[in-house]
Amino acid sequence: MSNYLERGYLEREDLPPFPPEERLTSGKPVAYIECVQPIPCSPCYESCRFDAIQMDNINDPPKLDYEKCTGCMACIRVCPGLAIFMLQIKDGKGYVTIQYEFLPWLQKGDRVKLYNRKGEEVGEGTVTWALNPERNDRTQLVTIEMNKDLIYEVRAVRKR
Ligand code: SF4
Ligand code: SF4
Repeated sequence: MSNYLERGYLEREDLPPFPPEERLTSGKPVAYIECVQPIPCSPCYESCRFDAIQMDNINDPPKLDYEKCTGCMACIRVCPGLAIFMLQIKDGKGYVTIQYEFLPWLQKGDRVKLYNRKGEEVGEGTVTWALNPERNDRTQLVTIEMNKDLIYEVRAVRKR
């Protein structure tokens, strides 16, 4: 039995399997959901028009079908728990899209420090896309380019 509540952060053993490399390199991002605690929450499920997110009841942690996920990003826009990430590998580089709620807002081209689930700095990356937070209920979405091996670990960023 995992003790993530006591530990305060998630380890790989707590999480679902990662998307297969063929999906990560297929040319479009794929969602990865790090929501493991049973809580009454379902905006991700309700937002997915492609039936990629399954939930037997509102308390169930969501289950994602990587084959059905089109990378549309509807779910990451509405998750109140900041628990959804978009992952992609393209031309040998890794890309992670996250929700970002700090000021100043990030801009395309900004260099950022990368942090893992434990809050440890693990490298640096570059913002390649930034959604205006005014268009997403004051939460910014940003895509960060990084070493491809880091997409499985990087879950927060901070402007350098
Ligand atoms: S990215 Fe789009 S298709 Fe994929 S799980 Fe989220 S809402 Fe569904
Ligand atoms: S919207 Fe976010 S916090 Fe709520 S169930 Fe889905 S992944 Fe979990």
